[in-house]
Amino acid sequence: MRPARFLAPLALALAACSDAVAPGGGDLLERLNALPGVTATEIPSHYGYPRQFALDITQPVDHDRPNGPTFTQRAYLSHADEDLPMVFGPNGYGATEESWEELAFILQCNGVYVTHRYFPGSRPQPTDWRYLDIRQAAADHHRIVVLLEAIYPGPWVSAGSSKSGMTALFHRRFWPDDVDATVAYVAPLMFDVEDERFLPWLAARLARPIARAQVTDLDAVPGDVVVNATGLGARILAGDPTVTGLAGQVVVTAPGDADLTVSLADDRDPDAMFYAIPRLDSLVLGGSAVAAAGDEPPPEDAALTARILADAARFGLHPGPVLAVRRGLRPFRPTVRLERTGRILHCYGHGGAGYTLCLGCVEDLAAQV
Ligand SMILES: Cc1cc2nc3c(=O)[nH]c(=O)nc-3n(C[C@H](O)[C@H](O)[C@H](O)COP(=O)(O)OP(=O)(O)OC[C@H]3O[C@@H](n4cnc5c(N)ncnc54)[C@H](O)[C@@H]3O)c2cc1C
Repeated sequence: MRPARFLAPLALALAACSDAVAPGGGDLLERLNALPGVTATEIPSHYGYPRQFALDITQPVDHDRPNGPTFTQRAYLSHADEDLPMVFGPNGYGATEESWEELAFILQCNGVYVTHRYFPGSRPQPTDWRYLDIRQAAADHHRIVVLLEAIYPGPWVSAGSSKSGMTALFHRRFWPDDVDATVAYVAPLMFDVEDERFLPWLAARLARPIARAQVTDLDAVPGDVVVNATGLGARILAGDPTVTGLAGQVVVTAPGDADLTVSLADDRDPDAMFYAIPRLDSLVLGGSAVAAAGDEPPPEDAALTARILADAARFGLHPGPVLAVRRGLRPFRPTVRLERTGRILHCYGHGGAGYTLCLGCVEDLAAQV
């Protein structure tokens, strides 16, 4: 939502301190352009700011190799006055000339909003996805702070919501002295891992590092053999409309008095299934399986959690406190697709049994290579 109600007060407050010529010698535009690796362009201003600039900032793709390949990162500077604080928006997404943070209006001060690396307008070419991580992004943000602090020496406050809130926290975590305060309005950090032991164990056995990238064309993926194990993503990637999402919700609890050598399942009624799967130090209670449209699971259902816990009691279980409620989409297909077409090996559609079936499927795949 646009901050329309701030327009008038901000314009009035800033009119008094607006300066066409920045103190310290030279026009502000010239001084911005004199910063190393910065190309500044003055653009029409918004929200009553006296001046606004688009900044194209040269950044190393890999901050560990400052003399290696570079890319251009886009940021937008809303200038009020050099002596005023700076609100720093290290966005988790793309920034635009209309980007703003509430804090800048509350503090009636400057703002700078950065397009996150790899978002359109700030993407290295060629695009090597290995360098899209929070440490490299934080290093981008550090460099921007260091550059602009030369002009804006006052207090700096970072702010953001959602992924932008996370990004502000990540920047602060790596460069704690860059800003005087951080206001992460919302920072939906995920501490849960779907399975805390199995996936890290599997990953540790790989002979080669994992590289993350979105695949849009299987035929364009290099290699003698390509395994397509994209779960629900195979619907589009393999053009397979028989893949659908089955939403599920489980409740993870402390063991309570449960015997952790015993698992329990009652799937007589598919609309009210119940299972209790013990782990080393917790109990996974389920569950549900509901056809879902789209690629995101539905929101957490408190009534379903209550039903699962009531079922546990009905089966004589007395689980400990609820540790987490987890939701997900099972990549369902009437049958698992495990077949080779040319150099593509398809392996998807395991529905609610992917963990159970994975080792057997891998053996079958290996036999086809
Ligand atoms: C609530 C719930 C409970 C479950 N309980 C059990 C259980 O007790 N036992 C059991 O065996 N299974 C269980 N499952 C099912 C299990 O989680 C799945 O079967 C399994 O995760 C499927 O594995 P997969 O690798 O095929 O797909 P996924 O785990 O979905 O992995 C596919 C990967 O491909 C990536 N991808 C997709 N499209 C693209 C693209 N275009 N480019 C690049 N990457 C892409 C995705 O980001 C994802 O990382 C449960 C699932 C849910 C939701």
